[in-house]
Amino acid sequence: MYRPAPEISVLIPMYNEELHLRDSLLAIAGYIRLTRLPFELIVVDDGSTDATWLALQSLPQEIPELKALRLSRNFGKELALCAGLEHAAGNAVIVMDGDLQHPPELIPEMIRSWRDEGYDIVECVKESRGKEPMFKKAGASLFYGMLNRLAGFDLKNASDYKLLDGKVVQAWRGLKERKTFFRGMTAWIGFRRKSIPFHVPPRESGASRWGFVKLTGLAVESIVSFSTVPLRIVSAFGVLFSLGAVALGIHTLWRKLFLGAVTGFTTVILLQLFIGGVIMLSIGVVGEYIAAIYHEVKGRPRYLISEKLANESRTVPIGARSHEY
Ligand code: UDP
Ligand code: MG
Repeated sequence: MYRPAPEISVLIPMYNEELHLRDSLLAIAGYIRLTRLPFELIVVDDGSTDATWLALQSLPQEIPELKALRLSRNFGKELALCAGLEHAAGNAVIVMDGDLQHPPELIPEMIRSWRDEGYDIVECVKESRGKEPMFKKAGASLFYGMLNRLAGFDLKNASDYKLLDGKVVQAWRGLKERKTFFRGMTAWIGFRRKSIPFHVPPRESGASRWGFVKLTGLAVESIVSFSTVPLRIVSAFGVLFSLGAVALGIHTLWRKLFLGAVTGFTTVILLQLFIGGVIMLSIGVVGEYIAAIYHEVKGRPRYLISEKLANESRTVPIGARSHEY
């Protein structure tokens, strides 16, 4: 049976989502079908340790448009997205979460904005962040505040739920960094964009995979990959402290020569602790950048695929089209 080339690719990273995978994908496929456009559903199994891959294997009967990639281990959502984007064949790619926290009912509206209004990126922005622990809310606003100040991108309320035109995907593929940050990179790319607001519903089942440590790590890496201002701040501290050293040095010498030395034990201890702290922090900041360079120069592949699943019976072998009609 002939299946036309997909117009839309819908890309979903999945990590240990066996419980609601089938329902979520059927719901998502249902909404795309409303548009009557040929599509493909690309699911990237990000090294799940539960039965996610097994569940995916039984799905092509119900969703013939399903294609699945299995990464060789858990590479993290960012790289799972990266794998999917490199395998998407549609003229537009919609990226969304697999837990229905990105409401699929917006899909027809996104596609309309792309096809009829000519937008290259349609991004869904969070009108409310949904139920989240306090630390996540506070951490997110700190992180986005810093990113905005340091790199000039306002990603507050941004989500990974986006439609990208083919040329945006092409541009994205040209960004070769190993540590990817999807939200930031699509902001950097530019192009004509439109926002659609949405409320984040609760997770379908299971718990969020993002703990405090993982999120903090992602925040530091993202800032390092988007801004070198922290390095400048280190230099600024250096200048400030040198000026202080000159002033204090003159003062101290003056006192020693003309007024006799006075003991200043507490001052010395406090200064030492303070300067020591700033130096260590600064080395840490420099270290983050060295680590980033280190990861880039190693030149390892960003992810590894261990298995692929595609409904071969429905794809067209090259050269076989003419007599299929
Ligand atoms: N995810 C992934 N790899 C990971 C963690 C998460 O592919 O290491 C996927 C997950 O299956 C889901 C999406 O990324 O489809 C968002 O994850 P989650 O719902 O846990 O994050 P939150 O909604 O809290 O941002
Ligand atoms: Mg979620």
